[in-house]
Amino acid sequence: MHTYNIAVIAGDGIGPEVLAEGVKVLKEVAALDGTFQFSFTHFPWSSAYYLKTGKMMPDDGIDQLRPFDAIFLGAVGSPDVPNSVTSRDLLIRIRHDFDQYINLRPVKLLKGAPCPLADVKREDIDMTFVRENSEGEYAGSGAWLYKDQPNEVVIQNGVFSRKGCERVIRYAYELARKEHKTLTNISKGNALNYSMVFWDQIFAEVGKEYPDVKTYSLLVDAASMFMVKNPKRFQIIVTSNLFGDILTDLGAAIAGGMGLAAGANLNPEKKFPSMFEPIHGSAPDIAGQGKANPLATVWSASQMLDFLGYPQWGKKLIAIIEDLLVEKKVLTPDLGGTATTSQVGDEVVRKLEETK
Ligand code: ATP
Ligand code: MG
Repeated sequence: MHTYNIAVIAGDGIGPEVLAEGVKVLKEVAALDGTFQFSFTHFPWSSAYYLKTGKMMPDDGIDQLRPFDAIFLGAVGSPDVPNSVTSRDLLIRIRHDFDQYINLRPVKLLKGAPCPLADVKREDIDMTFVRENSEGEYAGSGAWLYKDQPNEVVIQNGVFSRKGCERVIRYAYELARKEHKTLTNISKGNALNYSMVFWDQIFAEVGKEYPDVKTYSLLVDAASMFMVKNPKRFQIIVTSNLFGDILTDLGAAIAGGMGLAAGANLNPEKKFPSMFEPIHGSAPDIAGQGKANPLATVWSASQMLDFLGYPQWGKKLIAIIEDLLVEKKVLTPDLGGTATTSQVGDEVVRKLEETK
């Protein structure tokens, strides 16, 4: 029987609460499948760890993670540690060092999920974001000049390499081709006159190899309006790190809320482990109360199963999430229910068992 080794970084706040449910669900899937199993190794890296050691993870943290098949991440962040530390020293570090250059985020309004948009049909919100995840505006490049002087200047660079742009754009074209969907390029060439002009140029170049894929191009400002006014026009989307970050939070808001939003950080070549996470933060306001919705984590577990080569189980989990949303019996308070985090996890497991 094949064993998949999964590194679990539960993190802070509601991270450990939701991840416990994700782990529970993955174990059940493996038990039902019978041809593979998971071995989970827990790493305590978090804001609490930082407050004790001055680091989000040990110096050899990346080396410790390298042998794993995948990383399952909860959430990192705490009111006691600057955001720049928690995300840069752990999240962005892992994404970078493991060359997880694709951030794949489904924005799909499942049946029964709440939506704040009035005039939209449920099936109209069904898109997949392919966000550049290794460079761009989040490359961490810049300068702080004349610090604390009246003429203080800060510079934040966007780093766009040909290799970096080509590979994410190619991934998006391949996905659009495979799924017979349209591809929308979201950029901002009218204002970002180096980076986004280059990006658009590469989008056009790579596109020559995909004459079968119908494409659109939109400025990011217009795209954010259309996501609200006419989400139907989007199927596969490719965009830069910053724009993807912002637009996928908008996507989460129109597709059931943060409690349902998942994201995969992929190294498609499988040279390094990929990382799967609910995209919400540590939510200190509800931590420790059993109120956190674990369904975003279950959705990210579904993405992990897709990536490991078990799309039938990935689909099954999405169908179960949809069942829970439609039945409205076992849901957490953010979705109008009264169930606890672990009751929702148990219900997913129960429904999995029913499929036996
Ligand atoms: P961080 O600093 O780690 O980003 P945050 O408080 O900003 O933490 P967000 O994910 O941005 O966390 O979430 C904003 C709010 O949305 C939370 O404070 C919480 O009330 C709600 N929320 C987020 N995730 C969930 C969830 N899984 N279940 C229920 N409510 C959630
Ligand atoms: Mg936040």
